[in-house]
Amino acid sequence: MIDLVLRGGTVHDGLGSPGVTADVAIDGGRVVAVGGDPGAARRVLDVTGLIVAPGFVDAHAHSDLVPLMPEPQPFKLLQGVTTEINGNCGFSYAPDATGIEELTGEPVPDWTFAEYLAAISQAGPANHVATLVGHSTLRGAVAGFRPELRPGELARMCELAAEAFEAGACGLSSGLIYPPGSYGDTEELVELARVAHRYGVPYATHLRDEGSALGRALDEAIEIARRARVRLQVSHCKVAGRRNHGGAGILLDKLREARVSGVDVRGDQYPYTAGSTVLAALLPPSAMAGGDVRELLGSPAERARLRAVAEAGGTGAGLWQDSTPAGVLVTSHAGGSAAGRSLADLAGGGDPWETLCDLVAADPAAQMVVELMAEEDVVEIMGDPLIGIGSDNGPPVGLEHPRTWGCFPRFLGEYVRERGVVGWPEAIRKATSATADQFGLRGRGWLGVGAYADVCVFDPAEVGHAGSYAAPDARPSGVTHVLLEGQVVVDSTEFTGERRGRVLRA
Ligand SMILES: [Zn+2]
Repeated sequence: MIDLVLRGGTVHDGLGSPGVTADVAIDGGRVVAVGGDPGAARRVLDVTGLIVAPGFVDAHAHSDLVPLMPEPQPFKLLQGVTTEINGNCGFSYAPDATGIEELTGEPVPDWTFAEYLAAISQAGPANHVATLVGHSTLRGAVAGFRPELRPGELARMCELAAEAFEAGACGLSSGLIYPPGSYGDTEELVELARVAHRYGVPYATHLRDEGSALGRALDEAIEIARRARVRLQVSHCKVAGRRNHGGAGILLDKLREARVSGVDVRGDQYPYTAGSTVLAALLPPSAMAGGDVRELLGSPAERARLRAVAEAGGTGAGLWQDSTPAGVLVTSHAGGSAAGRSLADLAGGGDPWETLCDLVAADPAAQMVVELMAEEDVVEIMGDPLIGIGSDNGPPVGLEHPRTWGCFPRFLGEYVRERGVVGWPEAIRKATSATADQFGLRGRGWLGVGAYADVCVFDPAEVGHAGSYAAPDARPSGVTHVLLEGQVVVDSTEFTGERRGRVLRA
């Protein structure tokens, strides 16, 4: 007798094939049959009228410490996500993140990469997790926030990267707008990516510029991948900044040209026009260069100097020119009273720049949701087959961007069912194999005989997310069952409470 049968659903293989009505038989954590008579099973779930898909793979997660939270966190499982890729944007919590601790806002242990993975494994994640090693973390471990590397330090970073890949890191990430990662030049990144090449894992990058210099930033990423001969993942693909709206073609053309010339590049995207990051990202990155930002922003002359850099725009200017004070929603601030209000509102009749400086000086780790993109660009990027889905979530507490709780259901409900940007087979491919292949997750991201039985069952008529920027943590609708290696962890829309996720090592 086999373990489980999903009876009568429309089965999608995650590879882009049309759905077929079939029973899915699961035994020993694997899919053992699709179609035909599955025979007797210990449990049969009638999923008639529902879509049976591979569990979704979140290309871009920041859930690095979530498994260490006291309660299991089902916020991804409830979206149908069975695997998250953590360690993005250049920032992993190992090896030795103590040198850049001020970026985390809270103390972290001096873990080796292997120790970090062991800690996560022991805590027990709610869903599977794979983790990239971050360039900013590597740089912070050897040089803190010092811009120049001393002789031997790059070699040491490469050694630490190799140790991380030995321990199972699934790739290298960078975040080139955030110090200390922003100090790294192309040569430094090529050297590190060459280490990734030795282990057959990809390079994922938050580009040096996502606005007016997007094209140049893509050229750099593609050059790094070409010279190091690694697969390239362009993180959270977007065209940021009002003056750059309508530029999706620049991004997509660069990706296509790179592929034609032999670079295996893909990207990921979240289905929203607003991003979310630290409030300080509105300032030029040089403001957060590891000195005392409070002291820096206490000087009227420094504020004026930074403002001139910000208003000039371009790489190194920060997001000030790409956004508007009304489009900046403060989502967390140590002062308390600022959260939930826009920068325009907080400035009252005063100068929003001064208000921003006051807020960052009072809490350099404050967070925001910020309107950056045009809907037409979001849709054009989404329609391209090179682009998969990644949430770029924060921790599932407080006032976070709604993508944290609703990225995948929103994509499926709003952009697939309601607007038909792509059809169901392609949408499911984008949410599954497109990412699993890129990050080398063998046996996952597709549904067929022999695959791990990581499965998402959802109602195509109901799937969606009603979360808003003001009230983001709404429960998604329409995701009825989620399986991790054959174990039902979301049962009739309810999380069972079990920590059944694994740490996936490359
Ligand atoms: Zn990023």
